[in-house]
Amino acid sequence: MMSARRFKFWGWGYTDETASDDERQRLREFYSRCFSVSRWNEISPPVAEEISLRSPRIKAPAALAGICSDDTEERLIHCYGKSYPDSVRAFARHFPEPPDLVARPRNEDDVVNVLDFADGVNAAVIPFGGGSSVVGGVETAISGDYRGVISLDLQKLERVLEIDDQSRAARIQAGVLGPQLESQLKPKSLTLRHFPQSFQYSTLGGWIATRSGGHFATRLTHIDDLVESVRVVTPTGICETRRLPGSGAGPSPDRLFIGSEGTLGVITEAWMRLQASPCFRAATSVRFSKWHSATEAVRAISQSGLHPSNCRLIDNQEAMTTGAGEGSTHILVLAFESADHPVDSRLARALEIAGEYGGQWDRDTLGRGDAHRSGESGAWRHAFLRAPFYREVLTAMGVMYDTFETAITWDRFADLHQNIINTTRRIIREVTGREGSVSCRFTHVYPDGPAPYFSFYALPKRGSELEQWREIKHAASDALIAAGGTITHHHAVGRDHRPWYDRQAPGQFRAALRAAKKSLDPKAILNPGVLVDP
Ligand SMILES: Cc1cc2nc3c(=O)[nH]c(=O)nc-3n(C[C@H](O)[C@H](O)[C@H](O)COP(=O)(O)OP(=O)(O)OC[C@H]3O[C@@H](n4cnc5c(N)ncnc54)[C@H](O)[C@@H]3O)c2cc1C
Repeated sequence: MMSARRFKFWGWGYTDETASDDERQRLREFYSRCFSVSRWNEISPPVAEEISLRSPRIKAPAALAGICSDDTEERLIHCYGKSYPDSVRAFARHFPEPPDLVARPRNEDDVVNVLDFADGVNAAVIPFGGGSSVVGGVETAISGDYRGVISLDLQKLERVLEIDDQSRAARIQAGVLGPQLESQLKPKSLTLRHFPQSFQYSTLGGWIATRSGGHFATRLTHIDDLVESVRVVTPTGICETRRLPGSGAGPSPDRLFIGSEGTLGVITEAWMRLQASPCFRAATSVRFSKWHSATEAVRAISQSGLHPSNCRLIDNQEAMTTGAGEGSTHILVLAFESADHPVDSRLARALEIAGEYGGQWDRDTLGRGDAHRSGESGAWRHAFLRAPFYREVLTAMGVMYDTFETAITWDRFADLHQNIINTTRRIIREVTGREGSVSCRFTHVYPDGPAPYFSFYALPKRGSELEQWREIKHAASDALIAAGGTITHHHAVGRDHRPWYDRQAPGQFRAALRAAKKSLDPKAILNPGVLVDP
């Protein structure tokens, strides 16, 4: 029942994909310089044969035998997502609470039958798209009185079912991975144009369930903006929302399920708003010597009504880590695109604004359609695409590399930024006993504030990685909430962000969400521990 190619259970992508030897060598050299380490004691990736899993506690009934598996590698692939702690546990060969069964439904009826079976035997069901969660969203180690755990892998629901050319929308199955989705739209010259960094190995249903943030740095930032309607299998029945371009009819039924992280139902299909593929592009990168001037330039551009498709400000530290710069300047990657009209004049105006704040750029790159693939923009883009493969290399070396993200209004941004950088640096020093590094970029920007994304690296004590990561994560998350930010702009809540989500969301709202959970999933079999308590 499985394809020959298998996902790695310890890292990103398929088993035949990894960082190249050159990339590995560059990482070793870079982190040797950072931590004054002359030789790395690298752990080899785990193999399924060296891991013995707890015996499955439930057995699939005959009617579901064709779509359920208790194969060891299948269960290993579905234990964890792709976060730093997931990677550490995988390299430590630590899989104490695997799913008892992995179900791969072929159609919506299969989904209904799996939920019925789970309901009958009191098993928890964890919806699984691409498994790229970095917040513990697909983790199968759950608390509660369940007889077993089923990981419900939706990747066989992989088809674009219908395209409405006139409205430029498509009905799409939720388990489709990013590239499969785009390749089915391409013959019609249409695109969803939602490209999270995890695009290659994450699914439409996962994007909707987590409110993922994609390609566009302004305006259509989250998947929310692209959803026309959703179809969801809940333990109490199927719920399909009405296809509408917009509606003022009370609270939005779509919005109840968008961001529900597998706790209220299983998204099986959605009608999605599409776009024509862009054929006009203008891009360049702008250098700033002062961080404050750079953020003010981005604020002015975000409030100008120009709506750049890319407006990613990368601080000097991050520019150095990614090879986009040598560490002395902050870099703004700026791009415009359209399927209808030239965009050079919009880039020219954005550059005029950047110039008013001291920004500098190479004039000879202007007018080149491929400018986003060359120079600083190109170097950063390359690092962005390859970075997912580096985590397993760094974990093997013993380097902690992680990211977290937020959003904040402009009036509070400077304080939040200073606070987060200082707190995270201090806690890394206290916990690991040496200096680490913390950097920042903007992934998305709004007229009223940016979405800052922080990356940090540290050298934890071998064997204490998880505890040390937890201390750093807690201090950074406390600081985010105290400074008025959100615990996540697009990575979702999952299990890892629950304590801070509970502090952020108003009590009355949380009570209403609990009531919705009780109504749709009365036995609380869906993704226990995420967003709401069973
Ligand atoms: C290298 C890397 C880069 C990333 N970059 C980005 C980024 O740029 N932007 C961003 O937003 N996120 C990013 N993420 C996080 C992650 O990719 C997103 O959260 C993504 O939306 C998850 O999609 P998925 O299909 O992998 O879902 P999964 O990880 O499988 O699941 C995520 C959550 O959604 C639920 N779920 C999945 N499918 C369904 C369904 N059909 N019905 C109901 N619930 C479901 C799961 O139960 C879980 O709670 C990144 C992660 C990695 C590892």
